[in-house]
Amino acid sequence: MLTRLDLRGTRPSPRSLRGILPRAAVDVASVLATVEPIIADVRHRGENAAHDYSERFDGVRPARLRVDPAELTRALAALDPDIREALEVAIERVRKVHAEQRRPDVTTEVVPGGVVVERFVPVTRVGLYVPGGLAMYPSSVVMNVVPAQEAGVDSIVVVSPPQKPTGLPDERVLAACALLGVDEVYAVGGAQAVAVLAYGAGECEPVDLITGPGNIYVTAAKRAVRGVVAIDAEAGPTEIAILADATADPVHVAADLISQAEHDPSAASVLVTDSAELADAVDEELARQVPLTKHSGRIQTALTGPQSGTVLVDDVDAGVAVVDAYAAEHLEIQTREAGAVAARVRNAGAIFVGAYSPVSLGDYCAGSNHVLPTGGCARHSGGLSTQTFLRGIHVITYDEAALADVARHVVTLAEAEDLPAHGQAVTARLRGQGR
Ligand code: NAD
Repeated sequence: MLTRLDLRGTRPSPRSLRGILPRAAVDVASVLATVEPIIADVRHRGENAAHDYSERFDGVRPARLRVDPAELTRALAALDPDIREALEVAIERVRKVHAEQRRPDVTTEVVPGGVVVERFVPVTRVGLYVPGGLAMYPSSVVMNVVPAQEAGVDSIVVVSPPQKPTGLPDERVLAACALLGVDEVYAVGGAQAVAVLAYGAGECEPVDLITGPGNIYVTAAKRAVRGVVAIDAEAGPTEIAILADATADPVHVAADLISQAEHDPSAASVLVTDSAELADAVDEELARQVPLTKHSGRIQTALTGPQSGTVLVDDVDAGVAVVDAYAAEHLEIQTREAGAVAARVRNAGAIFVGAYSPVSLGDYCAGSNHVLPTGGCARHSGGLSTQTFLRGIHVITYDEAALADVARHVVTLAEAEDLPAHGQAVTARLRGQGR
């Protein structure tokens, strides 16, 4: 079922690997031309433009952009008790991990009388995107809100697409917001939501940072407003790569490839293996399991698209080189000595080690974050964390003697850069000391 790329007997360089590995035909850059006019229109016409795009893309025009806080309370009261319990477990575990991510302020006495403090200060106002097109994501409320709260962010805004027929975001998304104490929620999705957050519209004041996952339009819109606001890593259509050897269970491998394909027809599922027998067995399992799944249509589209496939390699070492070049959002290691293999991987959004750590666990209840870099961004970016919502501010305090002690070097470097006024700003303070 999966297209096969046979790299056995070859050792391509990382650069050539990047060119031949499965990747989506439509990339973020090519969607910029679609989202830029939407963003410009919302910036210009505000709330009305946002509603126009909701009508066009979500099939419903919300009565109001801002969700009445009473709707949040109502949604929580109506929430299925089992979903509430599962969300509470997810919140507890995610909070446990993210509470420990906050780096303490660091004070360094560089010299006697010369101190540099790195103070971590939360961003003031953040906009959190919670998807709601093909699937509903109350779990993404948890993954966005908990780290922002652990960082100490004052003002937290959630946006999520309006649903038919109410014109409100999904009920479970609203309930998850209420469970976490978030009361500023807007019924808007896609590029129009990103524009509302970046520039402000209606009751929504602009934010300083936008985070959260979304489809290719959301991801492209985040790229388009970067600079006006900060964004987290690009967390677009989901990806799974599985590095497996002959010891892996094909039933599990197929189930995990399917589970990520279920998100989106443009999701990517890639198997990297040194066992042609395993690859055959996984194909057989996919053929058996896919028709039994609820969303078999989009799973089939995702698994047969150019972004998915099986890569055959000579051995696990060559497999590590392939997964490093691919830089998957989610990487599973299902090999002998999986922990040792995982330790050698450099590029991945998150790594799931061994037979009992499927990606679905991390999607909800592992405690880790599920907002992770896609499209190769894991080569340079990590997933959402408490630190994403904090900035390090350096606070520099030198006394007169400490400044005098280093003045000569400052002046030398200032003159070397042909910026003599920089040096004079130092010497002006030290006149009378003969320096
Ligand atoms: P979504 O909220 O991301 O997108 C829905 C919005 O897309 C709509 O409101 C609409 O405005 C916009 N849209 C749809 N078609 C459009 C078009 N032709 N032109 C312009 N805008 C259009 O919800 P979704 O579609 O269900 O996608 C969720 C995505 O989030 C999936 O791709 C999933 O894989 C991804 N995801 C990623 C991560 C991660 O961390 N990388 C985590 C969870 C989910």
